[in-house]
Amino acid sequence: MNAPTSDLGEFDLIRRYFQRHEAQRDALNVVQHDALRDAQHGVMLGIGDDAAVLRLPEGSDLVAAVDTLVAGRHFPVRTAARSIGYRALAVNLSDLAAMGATPAWATLALTMPSADGQWLQEFSNGLFDIAQQHGVILVGGDTTRGPLTVSVQILGSVPRGAALRRGGASAGDLLVVSGTLGDSGAGLHFASAAAGDVDRSGARGGAVDALIRRFDYPSPRVQLGLAARGVASAGMDISDGLTGDLPKLAAASGLHAHVNVERLPLSTALRAAVDAAQAREWALSAGDDYELLLAASSVNYPKLEAAARQLNLTLTIIGELSSGSGVSWSFDGADYTAAASGFDHFGQASTQITV
Ligand code: ADP
Ligand code: MG
Repeated sequence: MNAPTSDLGEFDLIRRYFQRHEAQRDALNVVQHDALRDAQHGVMLGIGDDAAVLRLPEGSDLVAAVDTLVAGRHFPVRTAARSIGYRALAVNLSDLAAMGATPAWATLALTMPSADGQWLQEFSNGLFDIAQQHGVILVGGDTTRGPLTVSVQILGSVPRGAALRRGGASAGDLLVVSGTLGDSGAGLHFASAAAGDVDRSGARGGAVDALIRRFDYPSPRVQLGLAARGVASAGMDISDGLTGDLPKLAAASGLHAHVNVERLPLSTALRAAVDAAQAREWALSAGDDYELLLAASSVNYPKLEAAARQLNLTLTIIGELSSGSGVSWSFDGADYTAAASGFDHFGQASTQITV
């Protein structure tokens, strides 16, 4: 299994690490949720031919997204292979969650400098781990040599016309986020820092590890997205930080968004690891949390909250939408200037992960 694979051909590599019939069959059995399981049917032809043939459930729309992770750009170069595989699918699942879609199939374009058997084993274990959790079948891909770059395309479905969008919110709707914000930004910070630079004394050590885990193994809110369909008026996932993403939802809905910064949900780990001002900054703009940002009328909000409670997820009302445009922030009633504006790869302020 961990034999050197420099002489492993592309065909054998794919068969050994990515054509995992057992794991894929388990994926179908593990998923209990009927709506999810029903959508798994329809792989007419998977890995092995020139292309996959997939059949959508009757009366549904195909929902497609692709996200690429570049080593040194989206994760520190020394990140564990297992995390890279897991994250590559997780970030895509988050996009489907944001659409209220049922994920079904994925393809993987993998570019790597060499075929290292142990690396491939761990990478594919991470990928199939989260694929199995969400009942996703890997149906194809492409394997090439080059600087480490992982591109996953995800395909899923929604009942016709029912996708959750960024536009569609109304003035007066509440702005809601799932889970906690800022953890992954903190995790990336600690994972990128030199070991000696991170204070791990006392309870901080455990907190730092928990934050790094949130960066390495994000939890896409797929079930919440499904529950939000038809209940939330608009939604998106927070991948680039609230300050980067919220203006997109506000613009798509043609509304003004206001956020009460003191309400941002901060985890115990984040509070234990850094001071309040730093925690708030990461919660506002660090990105990589993959929580959902939803808009809901006050009439519908209780339904959303009930669904979240069933999923053991917290929801927090962080502000509201009103007529107008743009985004404003306040902290304990006073105007607040959010420092950064989210991650933009081609923006002037974009920083490169260099570790
Ligand atoms: P082609 O040259 O026709 O594109 P390939 O020889 O590249 O086909 O791929 C053979 C089969 O293996 C295809 O079904 C393809 O989708 C699949 N495949 C290739 N690379 C991967 C990968 N990294 N993960 C999953 N499936 C892959
Ligand atoms: Mg071909």
